Amino acid sequence: MPDNHDIEFFQREIDPFLPDRIYDAHTHVWKPKFYPFTDEAVDWSRYQQAMKQIHGDRPTNAMFIPFVGKEQLEYQLQANEWAAEQVKAHPNNRGNFFVTPNDDPDWILEHANRLGLTGLKCYHTMSNVTPTWEADIQAFLPEDQVRLCHEQGWFITLHIVKQRALADPANIECIRYYCEKYPDMQLILAHSARAFQPSHNLEGLPKLLGLQNLWFDSSANCEPMAHLAILRLMGHERFMYGCDYPVSHMRGRSLGVSDSFLWLYEDTPVWGEKHLKIDPVLVGLEHLRSLKWACWAERLNDNQVEDIFWNNAARLFHVD
Ligand SMILES: [Zn+2]
Repeated sequence: MPDNHDIEFFQREIDPFLPDRIYDAHTHVWKPKFYPFTDEAVDWSRYQQAMKQIHGDRPTNAMFIPFVGKEQLEYQLQANEWAAEQVKAHPNNRGNFFVTPNDDPDWILEHANRLGLTGLKCYHTMSNVTPTWEADIQAFLPEDQVRLCHEQGWFITLHIVKQRALADPANIECIRYYCEKYPDMQLILAHSARAFQPSHNLEGLPKLLGLQNLWFDSSANCEPMAHLAILRLMGHERFMYGCDYPVSHMRGRSLGVSDSFLWLYEDTPVWGEKHLKIDPVLVGLEHLRSLKWACWAERLNDNQVEDIFWNNAARLFHVD
């Protein structure tokens, strides 16, 4: 639930910045059965309610990403069906299909078509590597699934891992290879290319110039420089807002430190140091302020901000 600090923060920092309508290009719906994040299921109307806390009354549409815990994999199809139901609640919504690296492309195609889902969601926890946060992209997004997306004109939401994200040569090499060999597949690097440490974007993005099918969603990354690096090096036309619900509704923020990053959560014991008594606000609000600062620093005009919050996603997802 929002408290007064969230409301004040929204009114002071966010409300004057946001365009009239919002496309949330990276967000989740679930049931506790397959993603035990909450005790209650989250559907289209619960999602709409939650968005009022960070978008006010602006109409919001979404690309819904199903999510399944590693322990709940037996519910993979049900998670995809649940997301598909929420997609159908509005003609502007889109969704993708949650895959594991073992899934056969024919099986994926059959069910994604049946459900009207037009992309894939892969995740590192599904790889057979230990620890999975050091996995190569190929270990959780095999080439035959990328080829399927190329043949179908689908997109892929990819949360890269490894300690140094885009500053890791193996990630760069794989992204270039997939994008060049499969030009009709559209690749979205989530969390502003997972540059929770922005220097990884400054180091890696110049090595990805010229790829026509590479996109970025901002989801949950609270570091302005992570977004700014994308805006300046890759152009604002490939950059989309995503709030990453339910992460948006935790309190705290991501923070780049050293050559890495950490998350400050509501219960992290940092909010009362020295003379301070800080009230952390919703991650989704911190995230929006980091976008505001990046847009300001790059001197984007209102039309360009509208591109990030609607038009780019509409183009990629074939909305309107
Ligand atoms: Zn997410």
